[in-house]
Amino acid sequence: MTDFRKTKSLFHLPEGVIYLDGNSLGPLPKAAAARMDQVMQDEWGEMLITGWNKAGWMEQPTRVGDRIARLIGAEPGHVVMGDTLSIKVYQALASALDMRPDRKVILSDSGNFPSDLYMAEGLIKSLGRDHELRVVAPEDVAANITDEVAVTLITEVDYRTGRLHDMKRLTEKAHAVGALTVWDLAHTAGATPVDLSGANVDFAVGCTYKYLNGGPGAPAFIYVAPRHAAAARPALSGWLGHDAPFAFELGYRPGAGIERMRVGTPPVLALAALESALDIWDMTTMDDIRAKSIALTSLFIEEVEARCPDLSLATPRDPAQRGSQVSFRFEHGYAAMQALIARGVIGDFRAPDIMRFGFTPLYIDEADVIAAAEILHDIMQNRLWDHPEYKARARVT
Ligand SMILES: *Cc1c(COP(=O)(O)O)cnc(C)c1O
Repeated sequence: MTDFRKTKSLFHLPEGVIYLDGNSLGPLPKAAAARMDQVMQDEWGEMLITGWNKAGWMEQPTRVGDRIARLIGAEPGHVVMGDTLSIKVYQALASALDMRPDRKVILSDSGNFPSDLYMAEGLIKSLGRDHELRVVAPEDVAANITDEVAVTLITEVDYRTGRLHDMKRLTEKAHAVGALTVWDLAHTAGATPVDLSGANVDFAVGCTYKYLNGGPGAPAFIYVAPRHAAAARPALSGWLGHDAPFAFELGYRPGAGIERMRVGTPPVLALAALESALDIWDMTTMDDIRAKSIALTSLFIEEVEARCPDLSLATPRDPAQRGSQVSFRFEHGYAAMQALIARGVIGDFRAPDIMRFGFTPLYIDEADVIAAAEILHDIMQNRLWDHPEYKARARVT
């Protein structure tokens, strides 16, 4: 069993703050600063350019990818780090479309994060081959997986409601009609157990600054199923995805397997911060995380529903159908969230009316959940949100 008291002690959590926004940006692992300092001084500082060989910077994207693979049920050697999630969505989608040249439909749902949809739109325009982005309600995805579909582009956990798609069933359905699947694990990796290999997923992508605590702008990851690894054509054919980058050939030849999904120079410093976060992930299992996550989200729902009748639950009540977040709808949700933040309870707001709270077992415990619910109760009961200063929208909500 994971020692969650120990894992909590390994994060820097500001005094007086209950941090329920680790689903958006995880907190700072205490060891990250020393690790960054070591990479800067001992590697960048002393080794200079020889660090690419001596400090293993060149292998870092696959070495770190293997540590992520363990958390998402991927085969070792089939995950690589780099770029941002939006870029990795584009890459995976382009490769998948290339493998289904006779089909024109990309199927997604209205619960998907807009960047995924925007990247699909942009790709369709660049390809200029009349692809169609078909966006249906989350509940209607299964019924819309027809033999017109080239690829499904689905985010497993809905960023607003926390609703969880059935990855295995939808992947089976897609394969039954000859479609491929791209799964976005932005709100899955480090939040809920997932078995990419067992579910027979084709492509998966995700970010590392949310539940995985890699820090703002931490690099994304991409998974390509072993059966596609030697066939997938990388649309973003950068030199570090080339089979022999230092041969400096004039033509592109894709690298072996997942290496071809690399694009350019890896973010060595950002990956070092992520590695110190992954050291904490080595102390737990996704099954332990899931059990505690369900206990925390269930407790929060129970406490808030008992105390705050004006809030309505937007997250599935059945724990099996939700990720690791809880959302409530409230007409004045933005102001109420600002009032909460002023009291040290940090969650976030998603338009039009969703107050969103992330539950992250590595550093949130039952006492935090109860304290947060008590403060929320005070704000609701005494209309403390009804204050002009809480109603002015900031750039990032
Ligand atoms: C957070 C998130 C993103 C963000 O993409 P970046 O390129 O990392 O900014 C994209 N898609 C989903 C589903 C997300 O949840």
